[in-house]
Amino acid sequence: MEHVECLIIGSGPAGYTAAIYAARADMKPVVYEGLQPGGQLTITTDVENYPGFPNGVMGPEMMNMFKEQAVRLGADVRFGLVTKVEFTNGGPQKVWVDEKHEITADVVIISTGASAKWLGLPSEQRLNGSGVSACAVCDGFFYRGQDVAIVGAGDTACEEASYLAKICNKVYMIVRRDEFRASKAMQHRVLNTPNIEVIFNSETEEIIGDKVVESARIINNKTGEKRELNITGFFVAIGHQPNTDIFKPFIEMDEQGYILTKPGTSYTNIEGVFCAGDAQDKTYRQAVTAAGSGCMAALDAERWLGSKQAGM
Ligand code: NDP
Repeated sequence: MEHVECLIIGSGPAGYTAAIYAARADMKPVVYEGLQPGGQLTITTDVENYPGFPNGVMGPEMMNMFKEQAVRLGADVRFGLVTKVEFTNGGPQKVWVDEKHEITADVVIISTGASAKWLGLPSEQRLNGSGVSACAVCDGFFYRGQDVAIVGAGDTACEEASYLAKICNKVYMIVRRDEFRASKAMQHRVLNTPNIEVIFNSETEEIIGDKVVESARIINNKTGEKRELNITGFFVAIGHQPNTDIFKPFIEMDEQGYILTKPGTSYTNIEGVFCAGDAQDKTYRQAVTAAGSGCMAALDAERWLGSKQAGM
């Protein structure tokens, strides 16, 4: 069985930053990239708010740079999905990769991030990838000049609606309440884009189409009035779910599944297991805050391991 000093689960800004710091601290980190190597930034386009890039940078390119830096400093970055863990206070921690490869680790840093939420309609699942998408910037291109709909009223939905409006002929924005959740600036942008039609108090009943999306039936939840939107693309932008299910038996979380860390640190309830990035952050969720918390996790892990080895 393989034993490693520092195992990092997940490869977004938090995981790679933890790897950079852990490698420089000679902890010989092994990073398992997970289902979406590079994390959520690999499905975005321009990142304009990451300091140090005055002209912005493309998300996938930035994540390649994170990875390159971690590898150059000595991190062992591997393709694979951690499918099971067995954590004990003080360790060693047991981790299974792709259900078979068992590894023990002195310290584990969880940086598994979060994934897009879905409405839960059978038609949404059936047509996923055939007109239904949770990432406008990845798939918007396919609907150039066409009519599409987007569900959600947060900053993500507004940002994606604006993005789609540049490519598509018309964008219907389906909002379940009579107001947005998004910041005023984003609302303003949406409401001032002529080819975005915001439909308030409305929910999606069904996405219609046999092999591809042909329309969507929505219902006004105040009046009961139904309307069919002729669209070819249906985008869902209703928030995210932390990827923390496999840790549930061992790690304390809030009711939404976000891992609880000791305030101001990356310590979880299990000694030797640390957490960084969106898996523990439902408030900020930015690349730069995730990277910062990855740094904290590596420093906490190094210090914890040092005091354990010193018998303190
Ligand atoms: P949010 O949780 O902020 O918003 C989710 C939206 O989806 C809400 O409007 C919610 O409606 C709606 N929703 C949830 N479930 C359903 C459902 N079943 N049917 C219909 N609508 C539903 O998520 P975001 O991803 O938009 O944003 C996450 C965080 O990231 C926020 O803090 C945001 O500010 C930030 N962010 C910042 C950006 C920026 O500054 N450039 C860009 C993108 C995100 P309701 O309002 O009724 O609850």
